Amino acid sequence: MGEELTEPGGGVRLYVEAPLGHHVRVTPDEGQAHYLLHVMRAKVGDLLTLFNGRDGEWSARIAEVSKRTCVLECKTQIGAQREVPDLWLVFAPVKKTPADYLTQKATELGVRVLQPVFTRRTIVTRVNTDRMRANAIEAAEQSGRVSVPETREAVGFEKLLAHWPAERRIFFCDEAGDAKPIADVLRDAPDERCAIFTGPEGGFESREREALRALANVTPVSLGTRILRADTAALAALAVWQAIKGDWRA
Ligand code: SAH
Repeated sequence: MGEELTEPGGGVRLYVEAPLGHHVRVTPDEGQAHYLLHVMRAKVGDLLTLFNGRDGEWSARIAEVSKRTCVLECKTQIGAQREVPDLWLVFAPVKKTPADYLTQKATELGVRVLQPVFTRRTIVTRVNTDRMRANAIEAAEQSGRVSVPETREAVGFEKLLAHWPAERRIFFCDEAGDAKPIADVLRDAPDERCAIFTGPEGGFESREREALRALANVTPVSLGTRILRADTAALAALAVWQAIKGDWRA
């Protein structure tokens, strides 16, 4: 690992909870220490990149190494703290494609919050939130984000709507077929806090569809005439949103 590892897209990027700043020392967690010491065979003096979601991106060097841990010392700030657009993904967890995949792709696509929701036809009965967070951290490290999406505990459909923030718009991916095309909806939509909402393999029940469409801050959108798998729909909608409203624009 000896060579300079902080060139963009280059070496190791680690997310830490600790504050970052000039000469600040950080002790990585056990898993990270193992990775650095035994996978990357890091030595004192090797460089890596750290971020914590608050203080931007820092180059750091391995300052001390012992059998089971190491100490990292921040050197210089090499990137400003950047926030992804205020876009949430609300999704019914899917059985076939592990939530891992959806979490990883949604993180790469720049969501700020991942909110699993149990709808009536959701087959999955529980979501491992710790696992989701680990996947989100890994995808943030890999994709060059300097923030990690918030991975929330799964909630029931009714509870989600009952506590939904009034100022946040929901773009409801409605496969029922009479919604307007997503690109047309987004092109005319004001810039506001929003969320993309996708259902489970079995789709939404009519009473869920009615409950959503009855809300003032819900806009149904169509993703075309083909029925997409739930994870395909979520990722496709996120991509379209980023291209039209998000940070894929110049
Ligand atoms: N019950 C449906 C399948 C649901 S697909 C059926 O078999 O007909 C899972 C979820 O992906 C849907 O609830 C919806 O949120 C989203 N989705 C899939 N295809 C879509 C489309 N063409 N337009 C809008 N949303 C879609």
